[in-house]
Amino acid sequence: MDIKSKIESLRNELRLHNYNYYILDNPTITDYEFDIKLKELQALEEAHPEFFDANSPTQRVGGAVTKNFNTVVHDFRMYSLDNSYSKEDLLDWEKRIKKMVDGDVQYTCELKYDGASMNLTYENGKLLRAVTRGDGVQGDEVTTNVKTINTVPLQLKGDYPERFDIRGEIILPIEGFLKMNEERIANEEEPYRNPRNTASGSLKLQDSAEVAKRPLECLLYSIKGNNLNISTQFEGLQKAREWGFKVPKEAKLVNSIDEVLEYVEYWDKHRHDLPYEIDGVVVKVNSLYQQDELGYTAKAPRWAMAYKFKAEQVSTRLNEITYQVGRTGAITPVANLEPVQLAGTIVKRASLHNADQIEKLDIREGDEVFVEKGGEIIPKIIAVDLTKRPENSQPTEYITSCPECETELIRPEGEAKHYCPNYSGCPPQVVGRIQHYISRKAMDIEGLGGETVALLVKEGLISNYADLYELTVEQVIPLERMAEKSAENLVNGIEASKQIPFERVLFALGIRYVGETVAKKLAKHYKSIDALMHAPILDLVSVDEIGERIAESVVEFFSSEENKIIIERLKSFGVQLEISADKLANQTDKLKGLSIVVSGVFETVSRNELKKLIEDNGGKVSSSISSKTSYLVAGDKMGPSKRTKAESLNIPIISEQEFLTLLK
Ligand code: AMP
Ligand code: ZN
Repeated sequence: MDIKSKIESLRNELRLHNYNYYILDNPTITDYEFDIKLKELQALEEAHPEFFDANSPTQRVGGAVTKNFNTVVHDFRMYSLDNSYSKEDLLDWEKRIKKMVDGDVQYTCELKYDGASMNLTYENGKLLRAVTRGDGVQGDEVTTNVKTINTVPLQLKGDYPERFDIRGEIILPIEGFLKMNEERIANEEEPYRNPRNTASGSLKLQDSAEVAKRPLECLLYSIKGNNLNISTQFEGLQKAREWGFKVPKEAKLVNSIDEVLEYVEYWDKHRHDLPYEIDGVVVKVNSLYQQDELGYTAKAPRWAMAYKFKAEQVSTRLNEITYQVGRTGAITPVANLEPVQLAGTIVKRASLHNADQIEKLDIREGDEVFVEKGGEIIPKIIAVDLTKRPENSQPTEYITSCPECETELIRPEGEAKHYCPNYSGCPPQVVGRIQHYISRKAMDIEGLGGETVALLVKEGLISNYADLYELTVEQVIPLERMAEKSAENLVNGIEASKQIPFERVLFALGIRYVGETVAKKLAKHYKSIDALMHAPILDLVSVDEIGERIAESVVEFFSSEENKIIIERLKSFGVQLEISADKLANQTDKLKGLSIVVSGVFETVSRNELKKLIEDNGGKVSSSISSKTSYLVAGDKMGPSKRTKAESLNIPIISEQEFLTLLK
């Protein structure tokens, strides 16, 4: 088989496995086998850029970065839906319809998926673009991000129309949402509020590789186009399924409004059996001919109606308000409730957010409170049942000192939260900081877990992360559940962390507001901890994406004598506190401000090396040519369409050698 056919056949095979896995939920090979094939395809595509295809399964991993999302006018306006909240509303709607159309009316009942609406345009079976609803007339183009969503087919199958739009909802299934939050909580980041906001926020992330990491899905519900040869809504759903889209099987064709009411009632009860959230049901007149007769109001189709479920509420007793202290010293009040069944789960705790929230609702221990689970996974208290307030009830007095170390709490101006300022003596802060330091995304220390850290602190063996590097096997062996082997592993793991690159060390230090991305930016800009330590606020805020809040936090961190000593000690142990010399030696600003596209095969360097050279020298690698492209570096066998496009936009086309001279 020649290379081109080999690539095509791998692509087709991977598409099929993707479909089996994500759409049919019925994989026929293991994840491992899938990965092997994907890697094989990646290698072939890398070696043969002339066969590049933007819709290849390899494109799902993301990587391209979008700075600004273009505005695109929809070919077909994206209307909103009229809402109803009761049976009567639905019966009224039926009456209005019956007056306007002839003949019997069938309805397609669908679930109302709670996410972000998305319009996908396909041409010749390939995904052309993905655009958000926006104001209904125009939205933002987010194709690069949407491509990473596995349930969005990049290549259709079967007998699809030449060009059409298809609409759906981008959702985040509950399980995936909870997993993402677990990780955030472990990192002491504010958990995401609900799956819907997280899904819609994901679409506007600049880094598509970040989007690829999120377990988003796209559920489809409507096809738009000219001459599609489809005559009912339900038929449209079936066809979409045949072409490879994910269309939930809960959609149902019914013959009367009574059956619609049954459907509504059923799903109001069973909504929590679904793997994703719905906020109601959408009923649509099935015949597209009748839909045409009914038409649209200024804002919504007359042929469809949403039925919104009520947010579920229960009342229960608030037994106690407790307070948690986080790694950064932030205090979070928690309502401990009499366990109660709500929205499919047993609820024992609710978030109280902060002191203001408690005061605003006048929440007190012993109160009967109303708890609601709206779009949020973590339930919240929405009101107090004052008729049931006990006689001797007293207003809640928010704690003034830390529940863990008794230090007086402070509340920084403009912040809603209280903090315990006992940075080096408050146990959850001390332990939390070290736990963060060793965590997977930070120093990733093998052989050392969170519980052991707590134990080491408790036993007085360590009190900050620099102490880790002085631990000996002999000190560790006597600890609970430690043996010689595990003690050795622990010490070796700590030793190995000295190789972790500077940017991750910076993240590991646990400076408030300095997450992974910010740490990368700062490391790249300042190149060493010494430079960063001495940077004044004004200089910090001049760095791309670094705001005042972060800058102040950085300055505060390094102004502490204690932190300075810890940093000096880390330095003396050999922890990476600057970008390594060989990395640095190759870094310049020579290509600053330039956006460069690379295409073809090269002689002296590989394509990846070329891209790295661009980035190391301050330039930006871009995957497609636009008027903003500074250069196209052309190798052997460059795709002809890239050349034509560059020529038409007057973008300079340079050779590998010319590029390398730029760097001299
Ligand atoms: P609203 O935002 O309340 O006007 O409701 C309209 C939105 O509901 C649409 O823009 C879609 O994003 C969403 N939606 C969710 N499920 C469906 C469905 N099955 N059919 C149509 N729209 C749906
Ligand atoms: Zn404390």
